[in-house]
Amino acid sequence: MTARSVLSYPDPRLREEARPITEFGEPATALARDLIDTLRTGGPAIGLAATQIGTPLRMLLVDMSGTGDTPEIYVNPEVLAEAQPGIAEERCLSLPGLVVRGFRASRLKVRFQDCEGATHERVLEGMQAVCFQHELDHFEGKLLVDRLWLPRRLWYQRKHRAPAPAASPA
Ligand code: ZN
Repeated sequence: MTARSVLSYPDPRLREEARPITEFGEPATALARDLIDTLRTGGPAIGLAATQIGTPLRMLLVDMSGTGDTPEIYVNPEVLAEAQPGIAEERCLSLPGLVVRGFRASRLKVRFQDCEGATHERVLEGMQAVCFQHELDHFEGKLLVDRLWLPRRLWYQRKHRAPAPAASPA
């Protein structure tokens, strides 16, 4: 396994849409190991999406220990039902220094595959559910900075010299 570097905003690869994983077994296991090892060396953090290590595939890691010692790997994850919306505070390894508060469901029923391709369902609660939603956003190229109110978003983009968004067609 290899610890990789975590992409930092405004790296354009963070905006790529992730594709479903279709190769199970060894390739999926190798990617899972890289995610865990990257969290171990690049953390502490309770979650990491494959997008953040430069692989735009639908695999995410949740580790409530923050250290990589209790890894949960979710392949091709999806939310079946959500409940109990509340305010959650989130951070992201790809956007150092940013803390964003926003609405998230604190209870989820999810479906996912493991590295061998078997399908599972389970219920996630609290920060585990929040983390899961955060990592799912990475698959769509959505980042915490997008959830800031406009003046703060502009300030953050300027600070990190994000390229100006393309003008929308007339
Ligand atoms: Zn993140």
